[in-house]
Amino acid sequence: MNKVEPVVVIHGGAWAIPENISDASRNGVKLAARKAYEILKHGGSALDAVEAAVVILEDEPVFDAGKGSCLNAAGLIEMDASIMDGTSLKAGAVAAVANISNPICLARMVMEQTDHCLLVGEGANMFANECNVPSVDPSSLVTEACLEEWQTFEKYKSAVDSLFNNQITSLPLGHDTVGAVAMDANGRIAAATSTGGITGKRVGRVGDSPLIGSGTYAIDEIGGVSCTGHGESIIKICLAKHIICLMESGMKAQEAVEQSLQLMNSRVKGAGGAICISASGEPAFHFTTERMAWAIAKADVLSWGLDPKESNVEKMA
Ligand code: ASP
Repeated sequence: MNKVEPVVVIHGGAWAIPENISDASRNGVKLAARKAYEILKHGGSALDAVEAAVVILEDEPVFDAGKGSCLNAAGLIEMDASIMDGTSLKAGAVAAVANISNPICLARMVMEQTDHCLLVGEGANMFANECNVPSVDPSSLVTEACLEEWQTFEKYKSAVDSLFNNQITSLPLGHDTVGAVAMDANGRIAAATSTGGITGKRVGRVGDSPLIGSGTYAIDEIGGVSCTGHGESIIKICLAKHIICLMESGMKAQEAVEQSLQLMNSRVKGAGGAICISASGEPAFHFTTERMAWAIAKADVLSWGLDPKESNVEKMA
């Protein structure tokens, strides 16, 4: 097989990221992109690269995934994650898991060690035990900021419904879902997404992130996608697969991402963001929220940003 130029794209969630965590969000996606790119440059697989990137983002409390996950209506953590291998089309996901640090690793175990695609709640935690994944006290994943946000939500319940739907709210409610898409030197593509969901969500609510075709999709012949934003809107549009289908029909990655998010906006009034890599290694991203932290590593160059027109570039050593 001919070797190709590895590429990785990262997102740290599409929403109105407040100024006080904007730098930490930028740094988080840069760190994750560097890590994934290093793996790819050393001949590692796209799957290893996206998993390692998402672990970094889950461990960084500024993002709504792993440590720092948003709290549900009962004030508890329920996390969702998925991963997909574009070569075999194998996929693994977990939903509503509580006491593990890195749901993305458990999602990969579901993909590689079971005949299933998605395990939820208690069953997912039982599987984690079988795999000797250390169980952590869910309270160790709760941050001050998430607690404060939950308390704010409790006070202004109605605002959360409108947060992603283009009705501006000044409430500091966080939604930093994370995701990664990578293409390795063998042209294999993988995608991964992880989230704590949306503050104040119903107990048992599952968003788009663990749903293959909604939050995540990868197929070597066409491309890979990871999404973020209002989960219920993303599910209705099957955003990840919609982007893939547009690319399959010949559309460029960037146009496919933009057009799909516009469709989500006009058809179900949902806002969000997506990252993508096409089969030819072309990276793309777009968001219809105020901000989204993103980073791309390709040809030893790292680029990143957060505001709509922001783009920073640095050479990687
Ligand atoms: N899509 C996630 C969810 O609805 C949230 C996000 O991306 O911020 O669970």
